[in-house]
Formats: sequence, C-alpha cells, structure tokens
Amino acid sequence: LLPSYNISNLNKSHLTTTGGLFATGFDEESCLSRYHQSSLRKPSPFKPSTNLVSKLRSYEMLHKRCGPGSDAYKRATKQLGNNNLINSNGGDCQYVVWTPMFGLGNRILSMVSVFTYALITDRVMLVDQRNDITDLFCEPFPGTSWLLPSDFPLTDQIDSFNRTHSHCYGTMLKNHTVNSTRTPSHLYIDIFHDSRDHDKMFFCEENQSFIKNIPWLVVKSNLYYAPSLWLIPSFQTKLIKLFPQKDTVFHHLSHYLFHPTNQVWGMVTRSYNAYLSRADEVLGLQIRVFSTPSGYFQHVMDQIVSCTQREKLLPELATKGSQNITKTPRLKAVLVTSLHPEYSDELKNMFLERPSSTGELIEVYQPSGERVQQTDKKLHDQKALAEIYLLSLTDKLVTSTRSTFGYVAQGLGGLKPWILYEPRHKKAPDPPCVRAMSMEPCSLKAPISACQAETIKTTPFVKYCEDRITGIKLV
Ligand code: GDP
Repeated sequence: LLPSYNISNLNKSHLTTTGGLFATGFDEESCLSRYHQSSLRKPSPFKPSTNLVSKLRSYEMLHKRCGPGSDAYKRATKQLGNNNLINSNGGDCQYVVWTPMFGLGNRILSMVSVFTYALITDRVMLVDQRNDITDLFCEPFPGTSWLLPSDFPLTDQIDSFNRTHSHCYGTMLKNHTVNSTRTPSHLYIDIFHDSRDHDKMFFCEENQSFIKNIPWLVVKSNLYYAPSLWLIPSFQTKLIKLFPQKDTVFHHLSHYLFHPTNQVWGMVTRSYNAYLSRADEVLGLQIRVFSTPSGYFQHVMDQIVSCTQREKLLPELATKGSQNITKTPRLKAVLVTSLHPEYSDELKNMFLERPSSTGELIEVYQPSGERVQQTDKKLHDQKALAEIYLLSLTDKLVTSTRSTFGYVAQGLGGLKPWILYEPRHKKAPDPPCVRAMSMEPCSLKAPISACQAETIKTTPFVKYCEDRITGIKLV
C-alpha cells in the first residue's frame, strides 16, 4: 500500500530531490508516478546541471509554442504539401518525429537519442502514437502534447519510409540527389545497427549544416545513438555544457521523459510493496536469452549462480557446519525478470532446500513469465515497462549482454550493473560477467562515420563497450 501523502508537501520534496529536472504544472492524479517516484526511489546522487534544467524549461516553452494545435504547427505542416520543398513562410519551428521500432527497450533508447538531438538542435520532438505509447507513458511536456496528431500529413507514408524511399537521407546522398538550392521539407533518417555508410553521414558536422535547414525529420532507429552525437564537434561543445558529467545523459533524460501511466505505476507499486520494500537489500537479475530456441538452459543457470557468487551478490549455500546463524537474519530480495519463469524457480529452490552460508534469508520474486515477446500487446508491454522500472529500483543489478531492456533499467536506476557475457557453445563463459564502466547504455552497433574517425580518438569519455567491441558508450 502507498502511504497517504500530503500532495503539496510531496510535490515540493519531489521537486527538490530531482534537482529541478521535472516539469511542473501537471494534474497530479492523472499521472501518479510523476509525484510518487521519490517514495520508492532513493534520491539520485547525480544532479542535473543548471544548464540542463534551464534548457529543459526553454524546450518546454518551445514545445508549447510549436506543438500540435499551435499556429506554428499548422504553418509547418502546410509546407509538407508544397512539392515537398520548403517555402519562405513555413514558420520558425522545426520538428523531429520519433517512430517505434523493435522492442520496448530499443524504443526507449531511440527516443532518448531523438530527444537529445532535439535539445541540441532546437527541434520539437513529436512521437508516433499509433502503437501503445499512451498506455505506457504520461505526457512529459506541460500544457501541450508530444503526440503526433493522427492527421499529420505524412502519417500514411511513415510506414513506407525505408532505405529505398526517395526521401531517405542516406539514399539521397548515395544517389547524389541532395541539392543545396532545392531544400526538401522533410527527410527520413535511418539509424539502425546495419545502417549503410551513407546513412551514418547524418553524424557528420558538414551534413548537419545541411540538415539544419530541413523543417521535418522522421527518424527510425533501434539504437541508443547519443554517443555518436557527442562525436560531432559542434554538438560536443553544447553537450558538455548540458552534461558536465558525461555518463548521465540517459539517466537525466529518461527520468525527465518517462513517467509510467497509472496502470503501469499500479503494477510497480504493488510488486514493490508486496515483495521488495521490507528487504534489507534488493538484487535485480535480468535474464535475457537470445539463443534460438530461447528458454531455460542449464549453462545459463550455472552462469547466473557463478556470477552472483563470485561477485558476492548472493551468498553461497551452507555446507554442514558452515551455517552462520543469527537471531535477526538479513533479508535479501532477488527480483528476477525474464520471459522464462524457470530461472527464478530454480533459484528459489536452491535457497529453500539449503540455508545460505551467511545466514541471510533470500527471497526470490519474478513478477511475470511471458515466455515470448509480444511487443505492441498492451498488457504485455505494460508488464515489461513495470519490470524495467522495478529493476531500476534495486540496489545492485545483474543484466544480460546486449539487452536494451537491461540498459534502460541500469540508466534509470543510476546503476553500474554486472553484465552476463554471452554464452558460447552452450557453455557458461569464464569469467561469467563483467562490471559495467558506467550506467550509460551501450550504442550496440555504433553508427560511426568516417568523419568521426578523428573525434573518437580525441574523446576519452566515449569508449568501446565492456562486452561488445562493435559498440560505444559514454563513461
Ligand atoms: P532486448 O531485445 O533485450 O534488447 O529488449 P527489448 O525491450 O527491446 O525487447 C524485448 C521485449 O521482450 C521486451 O520489450 C518485452 O516485450 C519482452 N521481454 C524481454 N524480457 C522481458 C522480461 O524480463 N520481462 C518482461 N515482462 N518482458 C520481457
């Protein structure tokens, strides 16, 4: 149960604990998570810079002025009909449209990347609402909406945007159809793990000076590409001012943007209060099995036990005479998230059948076991989001390599997880896991263009990921 709050006091303390990050001026009852988060989450040790806070306030004003329903929005959408070329009275607002691709973790990562881009290029971010975004998140910007209106002139085209489309920027570069005297009103930007060299040129300074004149950008991506934005020199200058602590980009912007809806927040608080709140310490275990077929494998179970014991995250089992008996044993809760329920069943049995060597009591809890990914099914996605949130509330976290689901949890939680390496040849890897260098997500297949070859050498806070040499991350 949630304690009863004096909302106005709560509001004040919530605003101070988030360092002024959150927007104000919302109806509290319609989005409880915005105000109740601080009752479950310890205050973040990472404070947003004053530059970031004031940038967010000015972004909110920009969004209100240019957002759906405004005169500026009407003027800006009008140009989309004009031979797709810009005209002089198109207005002063520019936009970047986010679209949902792949699973929930990928979507959250790409949205934070789009928002980072919007902040540094003074564009307004609008989100494609045809999937279940409104069942998952509350509106983040006060007095306006982030939802792309359903009568947006390009709505029917969004699904057909791909690498063969004539408005795909990479394809235009490839076919030499970019013409600086005929500026298009919109471009489609393709940023995926397998994007082509021409698509990656989006991340070049020179190309950005052309793109900055385009009123509408529609982005499809499955990546966290914020690290690549840091490799554009003029962007880096702006980003350093907003994020003097470079590894806090995702942490701050995800807190700012993502407020689960009341239905999702209900799932989070019920689980938390029933299973986690009484524990002395909570360990999160995110188990994602990428092999085909997926499911329960003994070598994965062995790897989990080996990592958690080696890193002293869970106690060993007592052998005869080795048990440590205390009158008031510590309670450690283990929150397991996985599509497969067998891993937590096995862990539960382990600590039921034998005592721990330290005398600690281990309570294992897994909120759901959906078996298969069912992205875009409302309840399935809501459970996934609730579990990402619960993982972010833990004290220590173990995640699975290259899982964006785990990346979101670690970033939100401000946690440096232990990452389980990918098993090879059906064997538990040795060592089984590695500690992350930072809480930032890994940009799994970094869209690094040839133009960034030099900047990456002179940017010590962008490093190759711990578990993935093809990826880069902020540290
Ligand atoms: P990734 O594939 O691990 O990078 O993560 P994504 O979130 O992008 O896609 C995986 C999807 O599978 C999630 O969004 C969920 O729909 C589902 N899924 C994977 N692991 C879990 C889990 O531990 N719990 C729940 N509820 N769903 C999961």
